[in-house]
Amino acid sequence: MKLENTLAFAKEQDEKDELKHFRDQFLFPKYQDKFFIYLCGNSLGLQPKVAKEVINSQLDNWANLAVEGWFDGEEPWMYYHKELKKLMAPIVGALPSEVCPMNTLTVNLHLLMISFYQPQGKRFKIIMEGGAFPSDQYAIESQVRFHGFDPSDAIIEVFPREGEEILRTEDIVAKIKEHGDEIALLLFGGINYYTGQWYDMENITKAGHSIGAMVGWDLAHAAGNVPVKLHDWNVDFACWCSYKYQNAGPGGISGIFVHEKHFENKALNRFAGWWGYQENKRFKMEKGFVPEAGADGWQVSCTQVMPMALYHASLQIFKEAGFLNTLRNKSISLTSYLEFVVNELNIELEKEQYKIITPKNSAERGAQLSIIAARNGKEIFDGLLAHGILGDWREPNVIRLSPVPLYNSFEDIYQTGKALSEVTRKILTTA
Ligand SMILES: *Cc1c(COP(=O)(O)O)cnc(C)c1O
Repeated sequence: MKLENTLAFAKEQDEKDELKHFRDQFLFPKYQDKFFIYLCGNSLGLQPKVAKEVINSQLDNWANLAVEGWFDGEEPWMYYHKELKKLMAPIVGALPSEVCPMNTLTVNLHLLMISFYQPQGKRFKIIMEGGAFPSDQYAIESQVRFHGFDPSDAIIEVFPREGEEILRTEDIVAKIKEHGDEIALLLFGGINYYTGQWYDMENITKAGHSIGAMVGWDLAHAAGNVPVKLHDWNVDFACWCSYKYQNAGPGGISGIFVHEKHFENKALNRFAGWWGYQENKRFKMEKGFVPEAGADGWQVSCTQVMPMALYHASLQIFKEAGFLNTLRNKSISLTSYLEFVVNELNIELEKEQYKIITPKNSAERGAQLSIIAARNGKEIFDGLLAHGILGDWREPNVIRLSPVPLYNSFEDIYQTGKALSEVTRKILTTA
């Protein structure tokens, strides 16, 4: 399709968009008396309008049933996670038994590393992407220290080549092969938070397995954004947060994935708690931990009903919208349109002001574009804010914009391009 940087074109695309009515299901923050154009769903997704309702209904359950709420009422809390598992599974390409909602993301990274990072002899290293999200770096460093290693010996980071921003799969695979039987665990982010690069998860997983390592993925920026197939790709474990693309609210519940091939694996350590105990015998309160089958056996504490209710409500919207095809197709179109609009502006400016570091190929990215501003980046970002456009700023010079197919429109993108053009011209001519 031929793209055009005009309001008429954007409006025409919105008219044709079969998902356009989903926008009405979300609450947009306001700037002065206008609604923001919100391009920050990669950081915190918008609140679905039903969120208040589902929280109120759980508050009512608590008020009316109190402790009986665990087993009584329409949705007994004891089994509440089961419905959620069914909604989570298609988001990450898993069987419902392979996923479970629990805790928060970094906590789950630790719990899963306790199981899947088991250094032995010379096989004690973890290979990860250079420039990973800081929480992942800290978690991995502290895990290797916990096992008595020095992070500078035990952590291998793979960086892009000199002068490049994006990691090449061939370089990742070469690094994996180079260290071969020293690597106990490969742990990458599915999509890098900074560049927006979606790694070739299937082939990287294969490469990790080919040298005998466990392979895990942090899907914070991938889950609900791009279609991943954890089960088919034979990934050992994964975890994600629900508050970015999945709109489940600040500090929302995290999800874990454990491949079914590990369900009977007694060699895996676990940091156990009563909620991971066999469900039908949990309240016998017996000595000696016996895990529930599947991912549920990794639970530690009792069900966090409120955050799970929010996640449930938001995944219901994904189900209605059709996550794997309809949403993804719109996401690809919206992001391509944003890329087009930014590139047009760059040409008009006749200066290499903006450089998109996110891969050009849709199969290697999700909704986010990371744009390096050559000059006056922070001023330009603030200028966008003053135009009612809320993206996200990363030091020293990156503007991240994420059009989210559930609630962003083609007109949002057109208006963003227009504002970016005005702000840039003004700032660069006065600078
Ligand atoms: C957002 C994000 C986190 C955040 O972790 P929390 O424990 O939810 O605060 C961790 N890792 C990655 C890769 C992220 O993108």
